[in-house]
Amino acid sequence: MSDLYKKTLSEVAVKLQSGELKAVEAVRNCLDRIEATESRVKALITVTGDEALALAEAMDSQGPDANKPLWGVPIVLKDLLATKGVRTTCASKILDNFVPFYDATAVSKLREAGAIIIGKANMDEFAMGSSTENSAFFQTGNPWDTDRVPGGSSGGSGATVAAGQCYAALGTDTGGSIRLPASFCGIVGLKPTYGRVSRFGMIAYGSSLDQIGPMTRSVADAARMLQVLAGHDPKDSTSVDVDVPDYLAALGRENLDGVTIGLPEEYWGEGLDAEVEEACKAAVAKMEALGAKTVQVKLSLTDYAIATYYIIAMAEASSNLSRFDGVRFGHRNKDASELIDMYTSSRTEGFGDEVQRRIIMGTYVLSSGYYDAYYNKAAKVRRLLREDFDKAFEQCDLIAGPVCPTTAFKAGEKADPLQMYLMDIFTISANLAGLPGMSLPVGLGKDSGMPVGLQFMGPAFCEADMLSVTECLERNLDPMPMAEL
Ligand code: GLN
Repeated sequence: MSDLYKKTLSEVAVKLQSGELKAVEAVRNCLDRIEATESRVKALITVTGDEALALAEAMDSQGPDANKPLWGVPIVLKDLLATKGVRTTCASKILDNFVPFYDATAVSKLREAGAIIIGKANMDEFAMGSSTENSAFFQTGNPWDTDRVPGGSSGGSGATVAAGQCYAALGTDTGGSIRLPASFCGIVGLKPTYGRVSRFGMIAYGSSLDQIGPMTRSVADAARMLQVLAGHDPKDSTSVDVDVPDYLAALGRENLDGVTIGLPEEYWGEGLDAEVEEACKAAVAKMEALGAKTVQVKLSLTDYAIATYYIIAMAEASSNLSRFDGVRFGHRNKDASELIDMYTSSRTEGFGDEVQRRIIMGTYVLSSGYYDAYYNKAAKVRRLLREDFDKAFEQCDLIAGPVCPTTAFKAGEKADPLQMYLMDIFTISANLAGLPGMSLPVGLGKDSGMPVGLQFMGPAFCEADMLSVTECLERNLDPMPMAEL
């Protein structure tokens, strides 16, 4: 088998533009790789092979288009992004047979840029989870060790990129769901600033937290994807109308002179696995050697972040998921004799345990007797948390710390939901504050042999700086190998 699957998106895009590689060959190669690996990885809910090949053939007959930066590049989407005519399930039984009649804005932008969608990736049901074990359909294996989870909730997106089945995938991140699977699978994951990328056509989980972003095998690939995705969309009133910088032009800096990196003491202390700490510290030392200055910063509300996040996310989820009632959308129990019975049984059959747990908790924290005690308080803590970040960014340009206290764990190991929620401790603050966050693979843990991701967070709309710093670091670290499959 050709080793084309090991190339990065940027490398393949150049080959496609020059005509050295035909779009059909690129697609066929990915489909072959899916064929060779999918029985072990199980990253994809839907493979749109025939459609992708037909489109590639039509594109090849026209020839490459220099105005389309992703011309001919095979890409996978998390299965909560609406795709016209292609089943979109959210990995839930309730949307088992849902076929949207429109594309999400992020999807149309990829198509306009010439990308070819080859499949839809597995995920935790409705993006609720940190391991992809909550999918109603099947579990995804981590390409580095298929007994371990790929992280979640965009675990299928992480695994498909790490397995070389495509050149990039879209994930979504409400509390870490791009960064965590990127870290566990040894790839790059970027959650943009809230409002940077349109959420139109993304099936919402926590609307004030959700962002769509790229998962790729290099920082340059992430920059290339973000360039296409970013920008105002009149169909999403929370997408922000600010200029989109040239992300690719930000790459290639020689060193990190003049960059100050903040290290939050709350992220580097107790509870962090030794192998994660070691790999992350080595990357920080590399940044110092490249000229960066490091300072200690405080994110003193970190201890409250999980409670705050889960109150807000569940509240928003309970409201967002009320539309799946078997009438307007979703599975319907056809045997129910009365209306209320039909709602209850359709939702009971359609939603998995974790989703039901969150709908119940979310409804509870929004109920009139408890709203002030929970939701209102969480909203206030959220504001304070943002202020913590603002203060930290008076001292530094970017913050660095681990993505997760551990490397990828074994499937079934975290059966207790609270244990699972703890995996999000370092990632959810960026969502609560609306700030960009990124995971960069910095090596393999010396005990588990599994990938370790270093997280960067920065002020709103600093993606160009973040990409510039991480690309410089990436170029100076040992190259991240691909998983052997
Ligand atoms: N693990 C978090 C949750 O379950 C984050 C999920 C996400 O970012 N979509 O809510």
